[in-house]
Amino acid sequence: MVTSTKVKGTVAIMTIPDKLTFEEFELPEVEAGGILVKVVRANVCGSDVGILNGESPFNRVLGHEMVGEVVKLGEGVSTDYAGNPVQIGDRVAATYFQICRKCRPCLDGRFHLCLNSYAHWTKEPNETPHFHGAFGTHYYIYPNQFFYKVPDNVPDSAAASANCALSQVYFGLDEAKVRYGDTVLVQGAGGLGLNAAAVAKEIGATVIVIDGVKSRLEKAKQFGADYCIDMNEYDTVEKRVQAILDLTNGNGVDVALEVTGVGPALNEGIKHLRVGGRYVSIGNNTPGKTIDFDPGLMTRKAINIISLVRYNPWYLNKALQFLSKTIDKYPFGEMLDKEFKLEELYDALDQSAQRKVTRASIVID
Ligand SMILES: [Zn+2]
Ligand SMILES: [Zn+2]
Repeated sequence: MVTSTKVKGTVAIMTIPDKLTFEEFELPEVEAGGILVKVVRANVCGSDVGILNGESPFNRVLGHEMVGEVVKLGEGVSTDYAGNPVQIGDRVAATYFQICRKCRPCLDGRFHLCLNSYAHWTKEPNETPHFHGAFGTHYYIYPNQFFYKVPDNVPDSAAASANCALSQVYFGLDEAKVRYGDTVLVQGAGGLGLNAAAVAKEIGATVIVIDGVKSRLEKAKQFGADYCIDMNEYDTVEKRVQAILDLTNGNGVDVALEVTGVGPALNEGIKHLRVGGRYVSIGNNTPGKTIDFDPGLMTRKAINIISLVRYNPWYLNKALQFLSKTIDKYPFGEMLDKEFKLEELYDALDQSAQRKVTRASIVID
């Protein structure tokens, strides 16, 4: 049983790829501007699986999606980054990255591209303040890491993922300037795609979702999709292009959002867009996977390609407010399908890797 008075906490550490151990550390002193939280819930994301199996860059600590209760407040911290008062015991969520405000992209105000975003996350766990990843009993939030109080009506299960999927697609749809009356195509009905469907719907767009898994498309309907295109039924790009032309008076969609991680989705997305459409690339984020591409079609259609990593940190606040407003409308809590204890972390990651669970969640009491 971990309580706020405990002086030690536990961190999951990856010693070599595919091997996890746990180590105990003294709870650190908190610097001015920082806070320490007790992790209440941390979700397993695809990128954690990628780190464990060696597909993503090696990192000793894992976990970046969590909701925690404030245990220690650093000097000068009396509010979150939206000005809401914070106290010991409050539930908060933080961006999984920090912004340095000094690097080239930060100087342009493009904080999502900060060159030092993972400066804390890549630290060795035996380096203070130890708790750099969300898979542990505690998590240290640095002064350059934005954090926000979780609205009372938003359950932990929904809040824990807000800093990843929901903030990411919210930012993506805003960057593509989605407006009321637009038609938005979401390629892929995983966690990102479901969140995107809900946000696009709330903006007032008509939402079309493409996926190849029936159960995911069923979920997409619950998350606001007006039309779902099943890739088993519409089994060629040509059939899907025709289906989308039929749904858009022969024009194509205004915005397409790629959250599949599948390279050829880019080619297909450009075919689905109207002339002058906007394409948001988020899911394809592993370098080295190449495809044949038709740049002439892209130019002729004057497609604006918007590729994104991370988000401006205040989008986490928007995401939490979005959840608070729509929590009864969309089944956010149902995105998580299995809970594990911290000791069972390896199982949680392994079962996620094998797709035995869609979204695993680590619950710490
Ligand atoms: Zn994530
Ligand atoms: Zn920076």
